[in-house]
Amino acid sequence: MTIQILPDEVASQIAAGEVVERPASVVKELVENALDAGATSIHIKVDAAGKRLIEVSDDGCGISMEEMRIAMARHATSKLRRAEDLFHITSLGFRGEALASIASVSRMTLESKTRTEKTGARLIVEGGKESQFEPAGLPGGTTVRVEDLFLTVPARLKFLKTDATERSQIDSLVARYALAYPDVRFQLVQDGHSSLSTPGNGNRREVLAGLYGVDLARQMIEVLLQEENLNLTGFISPVSVTRATRRDITFFVNGRWVQDPALSSALVQAYHTMLMVGRYPAAALFLKLEPEEVDVNVHPAKAEVRFRSQDKVFSVVQRGVRRALLASSPVPYIQPSRWEMSSPQPPLVSPDWQMAVEAKPPADAHEEPGLQPPSTMPQPPVFSAGILPLLRLVGQIGATYLVAEAPDGLYLIDQHAAHERILFERMMHSTRGTLPSQTLLQPEVVELPPQSSRFISEQISVLNQYGFDIEPFGPHAFRVRAIPALLTNLHPSAALSTLVEDFEEDEAPLQNQREARLVARICKRAAVKAGQLLSEEEQKALLLDLEACQSPRTCPHGRPTMIHLSIDLLERQFGRRGAR
Ligand code: ADP
Ligand code: MG
Repeated sequence: MTIQILPDEVASQIAAGEVVERPASVVKELVENALDAGATSIHIKVDAAGKRLIEVSDDGCGISMEEMRIAMARHATSKLRRAEDLFHITSLGFRGEALASIASVSRMTLESKTRTEKTGARLIVEGGKESQFEPAGLPGGTTVRVEDLFLTVPARLKFLKTDATERSQIDSLVARYALAYPDVRFQLVQDGHSSLSTPGNGNRREVLAGLYGVDLARQMIEVLLQEENLNLTGFISPVSVTRATRRDITFFVNGRWVQDPALSSALVQAYHTMLMVGRYPAAALFLKLEPEEVDVNVHPAKAEVRFRSQDKVFSVVQRGVRRALLASSPVPYIQPSRWEMSSPQPPLVSPDWQMAVEAKPPADAHEEPGLQPPSTMPQPPVFSAGILPLLRLVGQIGATYLVAEAPDGLYLIDQHAAHERILFERMMHSTRGTLPSQTLLQPEVVELPPQSSRFISEQISVLNQYGFDIEPFGPHAFRVRAIPALLTNLHPSAALSTLVEDFEEDEAPLQNQREARLVARICKRAAVKAGQLLSEEEQKALLLDLEACQSPRTCPHGRPTMIHLSIDLLERQFGRRGAR
């Protein structure tokens, strides 16, 4: 074959492979263009999951008749002049590729009128070739109609998912933009039915309600953190509402929807130890920072960005979310004396509180992805200085669970999980380097497999803060002089191996999270075991210590420490009240 420069349509069709993956990507590009044009109202019409029709109309600045043809050309943009402009981009578009790419794989009609023109114009392009261009009487703004998507590349149709999936992709895409731009009115009509409509009055909570329903929207916790030039706003789900995937985690950076695994892991880490393993929050978070701080030109669909100070951005996300979560947990309520059955309790209901007590163990396998609404609890719980009601010990069963009574019913407490939580918080809150440590009579040399020893070497300074005294001793060996007092029943090599057991390479890039994990491991080994008989004093102490915890309802690995049988539930079960 001879070498040839590809004709423009072919080059566009190839580029379209990156930009136009599916109908939702067309909607995204067209909505972004409308937003860049300063639209205050955007109307989207979709038929047959976008395969037959995608039409986006806006009331933005419009395109003048002279510029319509050029707008359709590849690398034609009004948003950037020089490559340097990339580093202070404030528009969503800048590549000048979307219209050309979409037009090359469909039949596209572009209708537009600027504010100063008397009439507008209509341009029709089929498979990248102009077929009609004429003046037309139009209202101000732009309508782009995309018919028969992938007409020129039918093979692509085979890669699409079911219509239901493609439709819901469009729904959630538009919903996200509606949330990111609450000042803009969005209307989405699919196959003649309205599937989203927002008022455009600037109120994000109202948009949330359209997305998640009124109930959850009301529960969503507001996040707000301003730090230097970084601004974080948005909403996160309370710990009581979890999902099986990260799909409902949305980040916008400077008005641009990005899918960044690192950002979502910063969010998930902020929920650390409050969610069960394998459950994720729902969140819509909006980051604003100086355009110079973000490189937007990483990905053809502009779905990824790079941050100049990546760590700073992550830590703002983490702290902002953590702070919002802690602030949302119930207001401490101090009882003048210990609980008495007769005294009426002030109502204090918090959806946040309800969750962990009612959380199901992860073994509960057939969970559907999606929302788990917290069950309503008619009996408002009473809170002690922690966020547990005051517990009165009844006793221990199976040498594994404690039974306790509270104003709002019966509690079964897993002694091992509860003790893990207590030790964990104690260690995390103690001043570094002050944890009791046990010096060995004879320093021990412990040899570890290469993988584990690399991990230990990296964490040596942390370990030495938490009661170890370790130093490297040859390539894969360590000399251990002391171990945490909590672990004195273990041989030093067992104590060290505890830390590296099934350590997976890591979705936690931040050092403080590794630290928390290490500590959680120490606690797991040190906590009382299931099957261990406890004296009455020990049982009582365990309950008191648990009440003093900040997150008493889950162990550091996110499993529940307790199960709550409410009075209401008991009454129903015994047929004393209400329907069975
Ligand atoms: P980009 O958005 O990267 O500039 P596009 O191919 O999406 O590239 O659009 C090309 C140009 O067409 C834009 O730069 C803009 O000037 C114009 N344009 C596209 N859509 C609209 C619209 N809805 N309203 C006004 N101008 C538009
Ligand atoms: Mg664009």
